[in-house]
Amino acid sequence: MESGEGGGQTSAGDPVCWLSRVCPECGLLAEGPVRAVCSRCGAEMPDREGER
Ligand SMILES: [Zn+2]
Repeated sequence: MESGEGGGQTSAGDPVCWLSRVCPECGLLAEGPVRAVCSRCGAEMPDREGER
């Protein structure tokens, strides 16, 4: 019982942080700099809505 696991909220950062880097099509997690499109299937990444 050393770790405080068991709740439901983890303090490992916001999931939204990496959610914007995951391809909605193939689920590829983009590493490094965020790209506008997936490097695998070429689908548009759900990142930056105002910039187009
Ligand atoms: Zn993809």
